[in-house]
Order: sequence, then structure tokens, then C-alpha cells
Amino acid sequence: STAKETRQFQAETKQLLDLMIHSIYTNREIFLRELISNASDAIDKIRFDSITNEALLEGNADFEIFLLPDEQTKTLTISDNGIGMTYDEVIENIGTIAKSGTKAFLAKMQENAAAPDSDLIGQFGVGFYSAFMVAKKVTLITRAPGQAKGVRWESTGDGTYTIEECDKETRGTILLLELQDEYTNAEHPAENYLNRFTLQNLVKKYSDYIRYPIKMNFIKEEKPLDDEGKPIEDAEPKQTTEVRTLNSLTPLWTKNKNQITPEEYHKLYKDLFHDWEDPLEIIHSKVEGAVEYTTVLFIPAHAPFDFYQREATSGIRLYSKNVFVMDNYKDLLPEHLRFVRGLVDSPDFSLNISRELLQHSAQLAKVGKNLEKSILKTLETMLNKDRDKYKKFWQEYGRALKSGVYSDFNSREKLQDLLLFPSSKSDELVSLSDYVSRMIEGQTVLYYATGKDRSSVEQLPQMELLREKGIEVLYLFDRVDEFAIDALNQYKEKKFQSISRGDLKLDDIDKDAEKPETEALTTEHKPLLDSIKEKLTGKISEVKISSRLKTSPVCLVSGDNGISLSMEQILSEMDQ
Ligand code: ADP
Ligand code: MG
Repeated sequence: STAKETRQFQAETKQLLDLMIHSIYTNREIFLRELISNASDAIDKIRFDSITNEALLEGNADFEIFLLPDEQTKTLTISDNGIGMTYDEVIENIGTIAKSGTKAFLAKMQENAAAPDSDLIGQFGVGFYSAFMVAKKVTLITRAPGQAKGVRWESTGDGTYTIEECDKETRGTILLLELQDEYTNAEHPAENYLNRFTLQNLVKKYSDYIRYPIKMNFIKEEKPLDDEGKPIEDAEPKQTTEVRTLNSLTPLWTKNKNQITPEEYHKLYKDLFHDWEDPLEIIHSKVEGAVEYTTVLFIPAHAPFDFYQREATSGIRLYSKNVFVMDNYKDLLPEHLRFVRGLVDSPDFSLNISRELLQHSAQLAKVGKNLEKSILKTLETMLNKDRDKYKKFWQEYGRALKSGVYSDFNSREKLQDLLLFPSSKSDELVSLSDYVSRMIEGQTVLYYATGKDRSSVEQLPQMELLREKGIEVLYLFDRVDEFAIDALNQYKEKKFQSISRGDLKLDDIDKDAEKPETEALTTEHKPLLDSIKEKLTGKISEVKISSRLKTSPVCLVSGDNGISLSMEQILSEMDQ
């Protein structure tokens, strides 16, 4: 289509735009960070695609991002020679909200609708639309490689935009912001986005690690020089422009750990992974030797809302000598660690390697093993040194570790010390090693009870005796808990014992305590037992005199080898 079209923004987008334009917040300067990060992402994409298709570069491989403030027109232009967008891509990408960060932002804003939090916006990666925080009008001109025509998109953020084909010689995207008057005021340089030094500071503050040069023209006024190289005092100054690169181009992870502030790590994390919250944990390591790599890993503070439903993805980005190679590399870490996000930079990942080849790379497998080790080590340290933090971790990702225990045979032992369970002895979650350290004399097994919550478990008749003997019982409320315990089978050579399964193995405890003479009682009451058994034929397999009851007259148990009662419930639910 060549004619100019006017289109409506998607309803959610319009809502977001209204919020951005009309809410009161202080942090409007982040628009520059967002637009520069889009430019950098776009260059990442062409760089990667061109590895297998060099023609895409159209002979232009000097990747750069250019800022151009213009006093005359009160505009700021941000341009890149990245991947650009086709007509359909513009419609698809600009004007619809796909990003979880943006959705989370909208939700948060609505939550706080009565009193909009002034700084909320700075925490989120709100992307392209942030341009409207400072601009009256935004014009985007873009061309994807191989396209004869470019696309011109324009909007004042009022709910509609126009789109049409146009000519554009070079590949990439130009974003032209017609700035609102308050952001061109020379008297308030900090908010004057035409001021070169303001822009330079913002780049330093938010985008210093961007891997492509962010350039800007600086205008110098100098008096011409005389024969001896001295300025001629009474001559008219001469204007020259000088192109300067504003960012230092050193990726954060190449610096030494002790030269990096937590804020810098957080910035890197938020920008790479579009989160608005600081990560819970950061792991930064540099390894030299047979395999060589640098890695920065993050554990996000919260799991994505659909973390346990969707197909496993990974958030590991691969780099080779500071250059982005690929995203979402899946096979590096076991599935139960898929919550970890971050990057690995290694000279061994060749740039033009395909995904398939990479999968078979022995180097990469080694790197993966190392990363797994250091993640587990970090978690162990957190568990032992900072239980509160670990509880936050567990709340988000505990289920992932538990499912790792039963689905990944090789990880069982590695994960067992990271598990936490509620217990009869404590309001706090306890680890298996906490439990074992508190076992009472003569106790040979780890007891657990299953049920839907604490009160239903505590009402089980079987609990009475254990409670009286002072034996701790682990509570399993989640169905994956029981799968995990079943898979483990034992911990430090001590078996797990369901309190509703078979013999409770209490003989070694309280040896001196008077034992009910079950044998004699069984003989004495044989007719009663037989008649109960007959009445319940097909429902139970055995009726026994029990020593495990205190005040309840009867309880149901499974045989030693039978599945537990709650497992039976699960299975019968699955049948339905
Ligand atoms: P995000 O960057 O998180 O995807 P944005 O709102 O910042 O979200 O951008 C939306 C989409 O618009 C991007 O995913 C990208 O496809 C496209 N886009 C934005 N800026 C550019 C650009 N400079 N070059 C190419 N595509 C871009
Ligand atoms: Mg973006």
C-alpha cells in the first residue's frame, strides 16, 4: 500500500500512552535509555542475521547509533543502522503491546490509580512509547534490509497514528522526536534534551555499556590559528563539528567485579531482560583454563506469572568477545534452573556457529556444567547464610527445584539440600538437614505427612503418637512434594516414612515405654477384626490392632509398599 493510512492504537496501548502523557512522574529522562536500547537490539539482530546472509548488510557494517539535537526545529533524532522494520512489522511492533514488562506496568499503574507513584515508570522497561513522555509528536522512518521502500509512521500519541511508504536510502531506523516545550528550555539544562551535555550525561548514566558506539556531533568554536599555531585574537571564531562517542563501549562484564556497583548490575539486568525489579541474586564469574568464559547470571526477584504453565524457555544470552551471538539458549542449564537469566561470553562460541552445531559443542556442555554448579553453590550459601532471602527464592522457584528432584535423576542428590518443607515443629520452613539434626534418639527415618494444609494434616489420627513422642513430621502440601520425596526415597541413608503408610518404625524409640500387647489383643478380638474386614471387602486389604493411636478409635493406612493415601487421591483425580 502506498497511500497514507490512519490507524487506531490497540486499546491497551492507548491506555498506556494516556498514562505516560498525563501522569505525574519525575523520571521522564528514561525515554532515551529505552530508545537507545531499541536501537542496540535492532543492531544486534542485523549483526546476527548477517552472519548467515551477508547481503543484508548492504555494505554497511559500521554499526552505530546517532543522536542529533537540533535547536532550530526543536527536535531530537535518534538513528541506527540496525535491522529496521517492514510495513507490517511497524504495525505489528509499534502500536501493540506484547511485552510482559509493559503489561506489568499497566497493572501496577491501575493498582495505584488513586495515587500514581511518581517514580514507577522509571522502574519499568516501558519501551518505545516512552518517547511520548517528552515529545509532542513522534515520527519513525525505517527500512528493513532488502526492501525497496521505507516506512514512515507518525503519531501525536492521541490514539491514532498514520503510516505510509516513503523513500529511505540507508537501512535502519530514524526516530524524530518533536520535543514538548518544557524539554527544550535552555534555562533548565537538566531537562533540556537538546542540550548536548545533558544527553551525554544520560548516555553515561543509562547506556554506557551498550556495545555499539552512540555518537553525537559537538560543535566547537575556535579562533583561527596564525603561522605559529596561536589563536588570532581579533578574528571571527570558526565553527567546526566533531563527532564524539558518548559511551565507553566496555561491556560491564569485562570489568573487574570490584569495579562494578550493584546499581550497574541491576541496570544491565533490567535492560537486557526487560524487568522492572532488581534481581534477587547476581553471580558474576570469570573462568580461565581449558574452557574460558565470563558469565553474569541473575535470579529474578519474581518468577514470570506463567512460569509454571508455559513451555520451558531460557534466558541465557551467548556472546563471543562482547558480541551478541544468540538469545534464549536452552540447553545450557537443566530445566529446573530455567528461572536463571544472564549471559555467557566466551571466545569459544564462534560467531557463525549454528544452533545445531552449538548443541554438540563440548565446550558449551562444560560451561553449562560449571554454571549449574555455581548456581547451586550460590543457592546453598544463600540458604545457610541468608535464610530470609532464600525463603523469597523458595517462594518463587521452590516448585521448579522439586520437580527437578523427580524428573531429573542426576540432579536428585544435588538438589536435596536445597529443599524446604513446612513441619510440625516449626512455623519456619525446614531443610532436610535441619530435620536430621533434630531427630530424636533412636529415630531412624524421616517422617512426613501429606494433606491439603497444616490443619488437615494436624488432625490426622496418626499424628497423635508422633506428637506425643516429640517426633518432628515434615508436611507435604503440594503434590510435587510427594513426588519429590518418593523420588529421593532417602536422605543421608535415612528412609522417608509416610505416617500413613505401613509400620511407623517406632520400636527403637522409647524402648522402655510399655508396649500395648498387640499380639494378644489381636487374638482376643479376632472375630471383631474379621467381621470388619468382611464388611469392607474390596475397600481395604487388612484390619489390624494398632499401637499408633492415642485418642482416635481408628485410622486408615496404606501398606508398606502401597502408594500413600494422598497419592491415591491424586491418581483418582487424574483418572477423572
Ligand atoms: P521491546 O524493546 O521490549 O520489544 P519496545 O516497546 O521498546 O519493546 O519496542 C517494541 C518493538 O518495536 C521492538 O521489539 C522492535 O521489534 C520494534 N522496534 C523498536 N525500535 C526499533 C528500532 N530502532 N529498530 C527496529 N525495530 C524497533
Ligand atoms: Mg525496548
